[in-house]
Order: sequence, then structure tokens, then C-alpha cells
Amino acid sequence: MYHDALLRWGSEGGCCMLNKVLVANRGEIALRVIRACQELEIPAVAVFSDADEEALHVRHADEAVRIGPPPAGKSYLNAEALIEAAIETDAEGVHPGYGFLAENASFAAACRDAGLTFIGPSAEAIEKMGNKSAARRIAIEAEVPVVPGSEKSADALETAEEIGYPVMVKAAAGGGGRGIRVAENEEELRKALRVARQEAEKAFGEGSLYLEKLLTGPRHVEVQVMGDHEGNVIHLYERECSMQRRRQKILEEAPSPGISPEVREKMAEAAVRLAREVRYTSAGTVEFLVEGDEFYFIEMNTRIQVEHPVTETLTGVDLVKEQLRVAGGERLSLKQEDVPFNGWAMEFRINAEDPEKDFMPSPGEISFLDVPGGPGVRVDSAIYQGYKIPPFYDSMVGKLIVWALTREEAINRARRALREYRLEGIKTTIPLHMRLLEDEAFRSGEYHTGYLEELLKRD
Ligand code: ADP
Ligand code: ADP
Ligand code: MG
Repeated sequence: MYHDALLRWGSEGGCCMLNKVLVANRGEIALRVIRACQELEIPAVAVFSDADEEALHVRHADEAVRIGPPPAGKSYLNAEALIEAAIETDAEGVHPGYGFLAENASFAAACRDAGLTFIGPSAEAIEKMGNKSAARRIAIEAEVPVVPGSEKSADALETAEEIGYPVMVKAAAGGGGRGIRVAENEEELRKALRVARQEAEKAFGEGSLYLEKLLTGPRHVEVQVMGDHEGNVIHLYERECSMQRRRQKILEEAPSPGISPEVREKMAEAAVRLAREVRYTSAGTVEFLVEGDEFYFIEMNTRIQVEHPVTETLTGVDLVKEQLRVAGGERLSLKQEDVPFNGWAMEFRINAEDPEKDFMPSPGEISFLDVPGGPGVRVDSAIYQGYKIPPFYDSMVGKLIVWALTREEAINRARRALREYRLEGIKTTIPLHMRLLEDEAFRSGEYHTGYLEELLKRD
């Protein structure tokens, strides 16, 4: 079955392929998308800010367009310039990657209005799921369990009394772990509502909030889904993402070491049901919190995710190529029963940060670089020796992904690969990953979303 599926997956080309794709992003994800285009023989157009002239995605693309008058930090958010670049270069499709405009419904609609194919779900699906409190309501309608709470902040105090403290205040437009506050009592809740609103207005331009009960020590487990324009929706199993700092993932693995086959099946089924509810096309992720055998929907990310290679490695399915095919009008190339589920995969985010100094960003020049290789090792990164990491963007500079038949073998392989990884000139999260690989809780698979911060506090 495995080989059969891979063979079918390997049959490239076809009637509807996009003729050229503009990649509206930078860094490792831009390179990842360019690679998928090139394997499908679709020319890829890179865009770059003034700070990114020497970036690897520019070197690897078939064409590149400068979009970046200073301030460099804003170039990849300039919808107008991106669409203009796509039109100028005769690109048919636009791939947004993750971050920046990836979950911006107006950008997806603007692409469509300009006659371009947005490589992602419809603007309507992004709109529906992009607002986290509206998504919660849709989940309830689809009979997908949600964390006890309320979609409105107007009745926050009342709801908190009902569900009991501690509670979590969340920005409806939030993402990347921001716009979230915890309150232990009424006084803290009043303050949390004020602070979260300000933070959300500043970060997302929109301050509406909602409330959830704070779960203590849940796991974060998410399901990868993929849909096409004929209404087919499949899942590609789950990813365990409980190793987090400041509510941001630091390493991910699949399968989840903490769920039973029954929970896996129910959760995957719920994710597919929700995706169908919004006529979801392209790749997406339905995130859940898990406590024991109970799982609760928290949000849907309507884009390719940072940790998608974990699923690609586990299943052998190239999610980005599948996005490109589906956007070109093709049907999903796999049926649910043909999705392989084989072995164990782990991803380690390599951030240019100093774990010794409270994860302070550590941009600068890579003075020496030796990248790991060998069996079961994949590195998705956009750095090279001599490259200067600009200070304007996200600090994640690469990802190490390993695969092995068992979890134990994957852990040993990851240790070996991280030892091979020599990256000098900047500080990175590699030492933290080395430490986690020796950590008893991690090795046993019994860790939750609060675990890493507890561990760091012990220092
Ligand atoms: P994941 O890591 O699961 O793909 P994240 O929520 O961490 O999802 O987001 C991926 C990237 O997108 C990160 O670089 C994050 O900083 C960024 N990001 C996510 N949501 C937003 C948002 N609403 N505004 C700005 N950046 C965001
Ligand atoms: P974002 O949009 O920033 O990714 P999420 O709603 O996905 O925000 O939550 C991010 C993280 O915050 C989760 O992975 C989890 O660790 C924590 N979290 C979210 N909601 C709750 C909750 N109700 N109780 C406990 N932890 C939560
Ligand atoms: Mg999330």
C-alpha cells in the first residue's frame, strides 16, 4: 500500500498545473515552496526586501523581484507590491507561505480580484476561521468539542464565574502566541481584558477578545488536513506540539506519544468534519488541547505550518506540491485509506536566540556552518556560511527533521544530527534541543504545554 501510494503521488504534471508561481515570503518557507515548484517544473518567482538581497530564496528562484523600499520589515506585508510583482512576471499563482499575509483574507481576495490563484483556501474560509472566536462558534455548530468559555468578552466576568477560575483571555485576531492573558480571579480578569485588548489592537489592528477556561497541563495536538475543489477532505494524522515556550512551539513530533488510537481517530474525524463545514481547500491545521481522553478545539490555521515537514516525513506526502496541484484545479492525489502512517518523525526549530539569555534574539553573521546529513535527516533552512541574518524578521533560521522506525531511534538520530550541526557566529536553540533529548520527561513522551517553562524555571 505504501509504495502504491507513493507511486501515485509521484505522477507529476497534469492538465491544470499553474504556469508560474510567485512566492510571497522569505526564509526557509520561501525556499521550501520554491523547491516544490521546481520539482513540478513550475518556474518560481522570489520577492525580496532590501535586507534580503543576499538571501538564499532569491538565489534559488528562477526570477526575483525587489519589493523592498525601507523599512525592510514591512516589505513582505505590502500586498499591492506583491500582486504587482506577480502580474509583472506573468505568474499565475501566489503562495503566501506562513506568517506575513498567509492568513489575511483580504490578500487572498485581492489576488483573486487581480486574476491570480491564491495557493491556499478561499478568502471566505480564511475569513471564517481567521477570527478565533468565530471559529469557535463554527466548531460548536459542527459538534466539535471546544474548551468551556464564551465567544464574547462583554459577558467575560459572568462566564468566568460560571466556568470557574483560572481563565484565559484571548485575542480573536491573535496568533503566534500573542494577545493571550491568564487570570486567576475577577480583579486579574479585569486587568487581563484591558491589557490583552491593547496588545491585540497594537499587534493585529483589532482588539476583540474571548474567554476560555485555562486547562492546566494539557497537551497541544493538531491534525493536518487537506482539501480539494471537489469537496474531498482528508487528514494526514496528528502532530504533538506540547513543547512550547511562551505559547510558541519549539519542537514537534508525530505520532503524538500521548494519545490513544481511539482519540487519534476521533480527533482526526472531528478535524475533517470542521474542514468540510467551511468547504476547506488546500492544507490546513486544526489545533486541539488534550486532557486524558478528552480533546478540545482551540483554532484552525488556514495555511501551511512551520511544522509541516513532520507530517511529510511521517507519511511521505509532499504537502506543498499537493497545495500547488489542488490550486491548479487537480483532485487530491490520495484517498484517506491510502495515506501512509509509518515510523516516527521529529522537528527541532533552530532559532537565532540565546537560551542562556532568556532567548534574546541573536542575529549576525554565520561564520561557520556544517549541516547534518545521513540516513533519516532533513534540514529545511535558508542560511549559509557567510550569510548575515538580518534583525528584522522572525528568529527561526532553520529546522532539523529526523525520521526513524521507532521513537527511540528517532531520538538517537536527532542527537547524532544535532551533534553534527555546527553553526558558529550566532547563538541558537541547538543546546536546548540537546538538553531536551536527554530529558527524562521528553524521553518518556510524558510532557505537556507547561513543561518546558517549568524546566527552564528550575535553572
Ligand atoms: P506554527 O508555528 O504552528 O506554524 P505559529 O502560530 O507559530 O504557527 O505561526 C507561524 C509563524 O507565523 C510564526 O513566525 C509566527 O510568528 C507568525 N504568525 C502567526 N500568526 C501571526 C499573526 N497573527 N500575526 C503575525 N505573525 C503571525
Ligand atoms: P495562537 O493563535 O497564538 O497560536 P492558540 O489559541 O493556538 O494561540 O494557543 C497557543 C497555545 O496557548 C496553545 O498551544 C497552548 O499551549 C496554550 N493555550 C491556548 N488555550 C489554552 C487554554 N484554554 N488552556 C491552557 N492553555 C491554552
Ligand atoms: Mg495556535
